[in-house]
Amino acid sequence: MYSLLIKNAKIVDGTGNPWFYADLAMKGEKVVRIGSVKEEESEKTIDAKSFVVCPGFIDQHSHADLVLASAQQLKCLEGRIRQGITTEMLGNCGISVAPISQESKGLMKAFTEWMAPGDLPWDWESMADYFSLLEQKGVPINVGTLTGHGAVRAIAMGFRSGRPSSGELEVMKKHLADTLEQGSFGMSMGLIYAPGMYADTRELIEMAKVVKEYDGLVTSHVRGSSETNLFAERELIRIGEESGCRVHRSHNEAVGREHWDKIEKSLQMEEEARKRGIDIAYDMFPYPAAMTMMIAIYPPWALEGGWEGFVKRLQNPETRRQMEEDVEEMVPGWPTWKEGSWPHNIVKATGWENIYIGYIPSEKNKKYEGLNLREVGEKVSKSPFDAISDLLIEEQGAISQLIFGVSGDRETDAPLHQLIAHRLGGFVTDAIDIGMGIPHPAAYGTYPRILGKYVREEKLLSLEEAVRKMTSFPANRLKLKDRGLIREGFFADLVIIDEEKIIDRATYEKPRQFPEGIEYVIVNGEILLEKGRLHPIRPGKVLRRGK
Ligand SMILES: [Zn+2]
Repeated sequence: MYSLLIKNAKIVDGTGNPWFYADLAMKGEKVVRIGSVKEEESEKTIDAKSFVVCPGFIDQHSHADLVLASAQQLKCLEGRIRQGITTEMLGNCGISVAPISQESKGLMKAFTEWMAPGDLPWDWESMADYFSLLEQKGVPINVGTLTGHGAVRAIAMGFRSGRPSSGELEVMKKHLADTLEQGSFGMSMGLIYAPGMYADTRELIEMAKVVKEYDGLVTSHVRGSSETNLFAERELIRIGEESGCRVHRSHNEAVGREHWDKIEKSLQMEEEARKRGIDIAYDMFPYPAAMTMMIAIYPPWALEGGWEGFVKRLQNPETRRQMEEDVEEMVPGWPTWKEGSWPHNIVKATGWENIYIGYIPSEKNKKYEGLNLREVGEKVSKSPFDAISDLLIEEQGAISQLIFGVSGDRETDAPLHQLIAHRLGGFVTDAIDIGMGIPHPAAYGTYPRILGKYVREEKLLSLEEAVRKMTSFPANRLKLKDRGLIREGFFADLVIIDEEKIIDRATYEKPRQFPEGIEYVIVNGEILLEKGRLHPIRPGKVLRRGK
């Protein structure tokens, strides 16, 4: 007897091959038969006539590390489950919540505040501890993690700039190796954030050599996506070349119109690198806007010493003027880790009119949500810089920004299309909902948006190719075993979609809107989403490299 049968499925199997019809039978957590199966041979049957069945989507770039460890887990993940995500990879952009030490815990806790859906005990240290916490709680979908370079650097040397001593480098390598032993899929780097931004290329190559020993993946939020975009691409290629490790550019993008042409060049560089035997690829999110903390518009020197130092500099007229001048004029240069340099000046790249206030905590200032910084300045008769700086002080820094002009102004601009369609790219959300404020719509709409807008409406890529980029592509990059394809013997992570109806409904103004056209989501053979109903079950697994 089979436990679950999907009859009359139009199967898009994740390889990129043309669809075919078959019945699909499961026993427990695995797909065991693809062919012709009678209904009476199964305990439960789903009739998939006129629907497409494909592997569950694998989001290679999630920041749900703390959401998964929290009591709000299912509520915060609902928008992800309802867009067909069955597996996600944590620990991105140099930030993983494990490993931590007693000394690094405070730093990492403050640094990951934006990912936290409330107060958490932080009662783990090793990655193995963190995995057991998740296993104790249970997880609705499958989760794996990379090791944040920032997390292991913080253990060895706090958030100090400069090179590690040879002893410190050994400590970092040891902690990285431990996490890889415990099941991490590789190392992520976040090179525009502290402490990753302090690391030079040599240090990163040394760390990547450790990942190479375990056949893991090195991913990078590179050092800037405007002026320094191609320098940063070249650095990642060099890390791959000199360490021999597989490397991957996270959320490839170009911020600001004058940098959009760098996208085509970066893709050419990846193709050329591959010809020389370097295993490099990328992923992207299909939106011309990115969300981050408002504080990211200031130069690094303005943020030294944390929040207090920042406020002090704003209260001193002289340093305040210097900050404004830098924000408006300073051109990032290479190398970005040298004293006084700046990897990524958002205002210079996009202009005040392309930066919108996403979320503002106080009732009094809510009226500024959804306005760009030029409009905010006009409303209060101040310069955009003075307006936003005063608001930040009032709101103690807790303002988020939506930056437009990321790889395009509109959803149909050529650079964004190139990133979506290129064979070396996969799709990620890079977005989470922590249940507060306004999330990026990608947290609710990424995969349906690709299938509805870019496959059905714009015919930018075929259904089979789009599904490949959401399933076997990330599985292959991460070397996930037995997932990402519809195959006998593989885990039954499946999505059943209505290809005529599928579309995202999440917008920048109203992001918490579920997509249409996702009929069923099945995780390890269990039905998690059934015709619009989310079951409160936790069929997911904590995935470990090589297992
Ligand atoms: Zn990132």
